[in-house]
Amino acid sequence: MLFCCKVVIVLRVSRSFSADNIRDTFRIMLQMSVVLMFGGQMPIIKVGRMAGQFAKPRSDPFEEKDGVKLPSYKGDNINGDAFNKKSRIPDPQRLIRAYSQSAASLNLLRAFATGGYAAMQRVTQWNLDFAQHSEQGDRYQALANRVDEALGFMAAAGLTVDHPIMTTTEFWTSHECLHLPYEQSLTRLDSTSGLYYDCSAHMLWCGERTRQLDGAHVEFLRGISNPIGIKVSNKMDPNELVKLIEILNSSNKPGRITIIVRMGAENMRVKFPHLIRAVRRAGQVVTWVCDPMHGNTIKAPCGLKTRPFDAILAEARAFFDVHEQEGSHPGGIHLEMTGQNVTECIGGSRTVTFDDLSSRYHTHCDPRLNASQSLELSFIIAERLRKRRIGNQLQLSLGL
Ligand code: PEP
Repeated sequence: MLFCCKVVIVLRVSRSFSADNIRDTFRIMLQMSVVLMFGGQMPIIKVGRMAGQFAKPRSDPFEEKDGVKLPSYKGDNINGDAFNKKSRIPDPQRLIRAYSQSAASLNLLRAFATGGYAAMQRVTQWNLDFAQHSEQGDRYQALANRVDEALGFMAAAGLTVDHPIMTTTEFWTSHECLHLPYEQSLTRLDSTSGLYYDCSAHMLWCGERTRQLDGAHVEFLRGISNPIGIKVSNKMDPNELVKLIEILNSSNKPGRITIIVRMGAENMRVKFPHLIRAVRRAGQVVTWVCDPMHGNTIKAPCGLKTRPFDAILAEARAFFDVHEQEGSHPGGIHLEMTGQNVTECIGGSRTVTFDDLSSRYHTHCDPRLNASQSLELSFIIAERLRKRRIGNQLQLSLGL
């Protein structure tokens, strides 16, 4: 698909689900997609890890604090994050609550996407209150004003701006296919096509820790017809990746497989080219997406987990550079972010320092980009997409 004209953004959103949080996160995603669409002059597919991400893979099954050792928090559909024995006991009732919560979030997202909130005519109103009069907020406002002018021009020229393309947006949901009994119980056979779909999300992905060729997760994912992501770190061997893709997409259907690469900037430059070459040699059609979050987690001096904005940016840049060098297509970006003004990742133009971390550190697991950092990253990627587009046009006009 995407090797000519589309970029997918998979925006992994926190599990926070109050209506206002969902609205703010949805709103920042709209802003980011406008920035990317305007810069890249290409359609942007919005996939949010919302309405369903409640299970967390953990590298360590135990957590230790002040000499007390307890089972790790494994996500809200399994146990609680409070550090006490009772909260860490798995509770099956949590699965029912996770399902109801996901359904309610999805309803709200659907209303925002199709009920007028996402209409392009409102582009200038999406700026978040706390982002106004900040560097990124002002930058967004200037761009939104240009989009607004273009819409005015279209209307004056008689081109309709009331078409659903302009008044609604498509929004997809996604999460890691981790808790198999939960995913299995939401899987149904579609009687019209005879195909199985896991209805817990539009897109499911296989995590870095559960992608064994002969593992249960791969076996489950092989049988459903949803689009599938595969998380890949520097530990992935090129031949193993080819085998995994073959298992999950034996008919080589375009759009079925998205490879979400997360390995840090250095590995991205050294190891990623080998993955691209192996997949190309095998003739497999995939979409390459960059997750610059999971390979860049560090511990701050205060003990909190954080991610440096510069490292995130360096990995995203490496992703684009490698594609340029290999002549392949950078298909999207996968972020862990929130529309809130949190202080979880250090850096960015409104600099968050190690000392700031504890002031608004709201995540229960992974540090997320805040709204300003997310917008800043979008502007940088949009610039990169713009250069790529101009470069491609130049190549075309020079007949290269
Ligand atoms: C995640 O995306 O939440 C995650 C844990 O990713 P990975 O499987 O790449 O570590």
